[in-house]
Amino acid sequence: MKPPATAKPRIRKTPQMPAADVRPFLEALARENPRPRSELEYDDPYTLLVAVVLSAQATDASVNKATRTLFADAPDPAAMVRLGVDGVGRHIRTIGLWQGKAKNVVALSQRLLDEYDGKVPEDREALEALPGVGRKTANVVLNVAFGQSTMAVDTHIFRLGNRTGIAPGKTVRQVEDKLVSRIPPDMLRDAHHWLILHGRYVCKARAPECWRCVAAAWCRYPAKAPAPPARKPPAKPRVRAEAGA
Ligand code: SF4
Repeated sequence: MKPPATAKPRIRKTPQMPAADVRPFLEALARENPRPRSELEYDDPYTLLVAVVLSAQATDASVNKATRTLFADAPDPAAMVRLGVDGVGRHIRTIGLWQGKAKNVVALSQRLLDEYDGKVPEDREALEALPGVGRKTANVVLNVAFGQSTMAVDTHIFRLGNRTGIAPGKTVRQVEDKLVSRIPPDMLRDAHHWLILHGRYVCKARAPECWRCVAAAWCRYPAKAPAPPARKPPAKPRVRAEAGA
């Protein structure tokens, strides 16, 4: 006899968060971190730009470790060009894709010297034309260095946009556009940091820690994770009765 077909568990899609819940959701994250800032170490727009270019597919901690010595040797575009691709490579070879990144850092530094008097342009189109700089990097620099209300969608923000319902979208650009249109303008600049940090430390990719999430009341994720079972205290060692007792 043919065994009955087992029904696949239905995965419920997160509905879009109501517009009225977007502000309180973000306010809950803001209470945890009222003055958020990038975890990348930098001194000015130029060192921020280089750090963000290096951070593609690498952790902020690994980038910070490399840039501490790199920026000591080359804190500006002229010094970076003098250091050259091999010199930059020696500082950053612990970071993924370091060969391509070393070439891009030197090339973008040369372009800044040639076209912008060694300054980082405060303009999306000009930034995106630099070697190794895409829309996400430009958004981070415009937001963090120049205070513009942009939204750089990385893997964490893309996941949160869809999982929480704050900005569901199939592509990075759809999520970015929805976040920009749904987040109140006065919160947009800091929302970038609140969402990244929340995704990194609480609403994690594999297992969101919903039981300790300060924004759970407004999040629309239908499969919120319960708290893990409390650990049993270690069993007391048995005391053997002494011989003859
Ligand atoms: S409740 Fe869970 S899914 Fe929703 S934001 Fe918090 S951690 Fe993420």
